[in-house]
Amino acid sequence: MRLILLGAPGAGKGTQAERISEKLGIPTISTGNILREAIKNGTQTGLKAKAFMDQGLLVPDDVIIGIVSERLDQEDCRGGYILDGMPRTIPQAQALEDTGIRIDSVISIEIDDAIIEPRMTGRRVCSGCGSSYHISANPPKNEGVCDVCGGPLVIRRDDTPETVRHRLEVFHQETEALKGFYQKLGKLRLIEGNQPIEDVTRDIMTALGV
Ligand code: ADP
Ligand code: AMP
Repeated sequence: MRLILLGAPGAGKGTQAERISEKLGIPTISTGNILREAIKNGTQTGLKAKAFMDQGLLVPDDVIIGIVSERLDQEDCRGGYILDGMPRTIPQAQALEDTGIRIDSVISIEIDDAIIEPRMTGRRVCSGCGSSYHISANPPKNEGVCDVCGGPLVIRRDDTPETVRHRLEVFHQETEALKGFYQKLGKLRLIEGNQPIEDVTRDIMTALGV
C-alpha cells in the first residue's frame, strides 16, 4: 500500500499517519519530521530548510524531491509507505509520478480553516520521534512526555498564530491544487477531518478498503 495524505496544516495528517502506519505495518515518511531532524542535527539540508520553515514557506522542490527519493530507496519502504506532507506542489507530485512509483490512494483530510488555529495552538510534538499530541483533543498519558518514546514534548516554532495563517495561505495557493491532480488520476478520496480522531481513522480505513 502506497498512500499519500493531503490536507491543510493541522488537518490531522501526522496523527492519522501514525495510526494507519501501526495498523498497516508500513512506515510513515513525514517530510516535516525529516526536515526538523535535519535542522536539529545541523546538516546542510537543515541549514537550507530552516529559514523557509520558520517563515511558513515551502522548502524548495529540489530539496524535498531529493530527501524523499533517498528515503523511498530504503529497505523498509519495499512493502509500502505513507507519505505525510509530500507532495505539496504540482512539481513534487509530477516528480513522484516520473519515478514510475504507483501510488495506490490519495486521502485528503478535509477541514475548515476556522478549526485550524485552535488545533495548532494546542499542538505539542515530541522532539525525539515527532509524534503529535494536542493538549485537550489528544493529550499524552503523562504531561509533557511522549507516549511512544518518552521524549520531551515541545511547541513547534512554526505553530505561532501568525505563521499558521501564512502556512494556510501557502496551502490554498500551492497545495490544494493537488486534489485536482489526483482526482484526474482517479486516486483521490475525501475524508471529513472535523470529527474525533478515531472516526477519521475509521473513515480512512473504510476508504482504503482495509
Ligand atoms: P498535520 O500533520 O496535518 O499538520 P497533526 O496531525 O499534527 O496535523 O494535528 C494537528 C493538531 O490537531 C495536533 O495537536 C493533533 O493532536 C490535533 N488533531 C488531529 N486530529 C484531530 C481531530 N480529529 N480532532 C481534534 N484534534 C485533532
Ligand atoms: P509539516 O510538518 O508537514 O507541517 O511541515 C512543516 C514545514 O516543513 C512546512 O511549513 C514547510 O516549510 C516544510 N515542508 C514539509 N514538507 C514539505 C514539502 N513537501 N514541500 C515543501 N516544504 C515542506
